[in-house]
Amino acid sequence: MITIAERLKFAYDRITKAIKNSHISGQKVALLAVSKTKPSTLIREAYNANQRQFGESYVQEAVEKIAELSDLNDIEWHFIGPIQSNKSALVAAHFDWVQSVDRMKIARRLNEQRPSNSAKLNVLIQVNIDDEETKSGCAINELPELAAFVANAENLELRGLMAIPKKSETNEQQQASFAKLNACFTQLKAQYQSIDTLSMGMSNDVEAAISQGSTMVRIGTDIFGPRT
Ligand SMILES: *Cc1c(COP(=O)(O)O)cnc(C)c1O
Repeated sequence: MITIAERLKFAYDRITKAIKNSHISGQKVALLAVSKTKPSTLIREAYNANQRQFGESYVQEAVEKIAELSDLNDIEWHFIGPIQSNKSALVAAHFDWVQSVDRMKIARRLNEQRPSNSAKLNVLIQVNIDDEETKSGCAINELPELAAFVANAENLELRGLMAIPKKSETNEQQQASFAKLNACFTQLKAQYQSIDTLSMGMSNDVEAAISQGSTMVRIGTDIFGPRT
């Protein structure tokens, strides 16, 4: 049996190698371990192997696991799933980051619902980078207004962008989607000093994402195994 610690090491080695090949000066890439559908025992195992940043997609499930792991006080929880209005209060109360903010209504609610004794909620705006009908994420032309709202919101901190590109046949197609997101990121970063995070790349496209300037990859399957 291959352990979680070994799988994590493999993922970090893969990231290190991709950074070397990307030739972007000073590039640093964080690894978000995507633990959705996986039990808290496996998250604890990853924590014990020094992993600190975890991503969850389902609010109810995540809140239960966050409670089970409340003794790990330097763990960092990222919400990466679609946000329904009636779940936004739970997201605002229990997470450190939200990567999937894609509309005004949700941004407004998260700002209002963030508990006053908590640090600002770190926000990535999710962009529907390939303009797919079925995908979450704001359209590129909605980005300026949404970014301005988040940047000025009292209880939110605008940290950057996230996207899930469409499934591509070729490496070139993958890179083109990521390059498009990087262009949006560069433009926003020139306007807002708080921006430092470009979340792109999953188990099957880590190299393409890092070659186009990713600063955070989100890996589930390669760390915790396939989801059923
Ligand atoms: C599930 C998920 C991932 C991880 O996907 P893997 O293919 O298992 O690495 C990354 N990002 C988001 C937004 C996800 O929902």
